[in-house]
Amino acid sequence: MELDSLYQEVILDHYKRPHHKGLAADFDAQVHHVNPSCGDEITLNLKLSGDLVSEITWDGVGCSISQASVSILSDLLIGKTIADADSILTNFTELMQSKGTKAGDDEVLEDAVALAGVSKFPARIKCALLGWMAYKDAVVQAQANK
Ligand code: ZN
Repeated sequence: MELDSLYQEVILDHYKRPHHKGLAADFDAQVHHVNPSCGDEITLNLKLSGDLVSEITWDGVGCSISQASVSILSDLLIGKTIADADSILTNFTELMQSKGTKAGDDEVLEDAVALAGVSKFPARIKCALLGWMAYKDAVVQAQANK
């Protein structure tokens, strides 16, 4: 798989020095998602404060794409409203479904645009989306628990 080298660096950087990794004890929902086709696993803890995403922490194992993606999404979504996080999630999902035809809006997606090239590799899209699907699940559960 070949990605633009600058983008590859962003991904490797998040993989080697992941942000918000290490599960916080205080959370509203905890989810565990796996991607059996690659062996990726992510546990994600979500804390809401009203309609704000106040904390995302996670732990996981797997390929650089899956781990970098969840590091990037925690940077992006913490501090956003649930509605804004939702639209970022939709934007990222559309990018992943673009089969390499979209570059991604870096004002919305920031470091996540580094994953744009993954959309050309159908087998890896699930790696990139794993953390995002975990987040989506966690929000539903956290809201149901309130
Ligand atoms: Zn993977």
